[in-house]
Amino acid sequence: MTDPAPPVIDVRHLRKTYAGPEGTTKVAVDDVSFTVGRGEIFGILGPNGAGKTTTVECVAGLRRADSGEISVLGHDPQADPASIRESVGVQLQESALHDKITVDEAMRQFAAFYEHPSDVEELLRLLDLADHRGVQFANLSGGQKQRLSIALALVGNPQVAILDELTTGLDPAARRATWDLVERVRDSGVTVLLVTHFMDEAERLCDRLVIIDGGTVVAEGTPADLIDGLDGSRAVRLRFTPDRTDRALAVLTALAADGADVESVNRSGSEIEVTGTRKVLFAVVQALAADDLVPEDVRTVSRSLEDVFVQFSGRTYQDETTAEVAA
Ligand code: ADP
Repeated sequence: MTDPAPPVIDVRHLRKTYAGPEGTTKVAVDDVSFTVGRGEIFGILGPNGAGKTTTVECVAGLRRADSGEISVLGHDPQADPASIRESVGVQLQESALHDKITVDEAMRQFAAFYEHPSDVEELLRLLDLADHRGVQFANLSGGQKQRLSIALALVGNPQVAILDELTTGLDPAARRATWDLVERVRDSGVTVLLVTHFMDEAERLCDRLVIIDGGTVVAEGTPADLIDGLDGSRAVRLRFTPDRTDRALAVLTALAADGADVESVNRSGSEIEVTGTRKVLFAVVQALAADDLVPEDVRTVSRSLEDVFVQFSGRTYQDETTAEVAA
């Protein structure tokens, strides 16, 4: 038997603190470990302040960790940041480009830093920037600026691309276009380390991910496995006519007490929510049919990574997403 392919990125017990005011210490990353395989889109998901950016800055050799081990393509970016310079592309969170530089000029300037740069023309086409090559940075739309920042991360022809909060501030159409693009980048053979605080983005895009909260990993896996592994991972919501709601609640509560497939029954106004295993809907319908209780409305509720966060962190997913989008 051959050994499995070595991981592209391996992070073990990473810890990073910052000096706070008046001699205090701020633990940004407490204990983070994960492994990224070749060709994956691997997500680091968590609320703002969880330690995501600090983690990837340490992986990219841009920040010195307090302790822990990091290996990127067999190199140690902490001991020797230059060892990964050609093979890891980092997307700048806020592009620090001059307003007057054009797309084409930025690409060619950045390409000149690398020994084996990508084909700039091909990259412009891949990122739908070919028609905007002569446009100055200040005149690009939010989506175009993001695409340019991704293009600049890829211009050195890296094996690994680190993309940090790449869809913040984009409208829904531009977000979806950016997601398609990240998949194209992955399909072209680049391993992607994706930092995001958007649950839907991680669910849609990541092959595997870690969820980080307060500087520690609270969950790790594929989005589907994490969601399937939730307690009460299926939920059904039912509505009955007012004269039948109490009776239905009694039948379903009895089912929860007896049945292996039903975990909880909760009433909220005229709605009853039942959670349980994959067979919960089947069990509910059978029990109701036996009592001739026909609901007015039945909806199955799908779970998301947000529910995974709630279960593993023990708190609701609160971040500044809503405020940010509204702002
Ligand atoms: P995230 O990317 O998940 O939002 P960060 O890694 O940026 O998290 O930050 C983690 C924590 O470390 C936050 O509490 C943040 O305020 C703090 N922090 C980040 N950078 C610095 C810094 N340069 N100096 C002091 N504290 C910092």
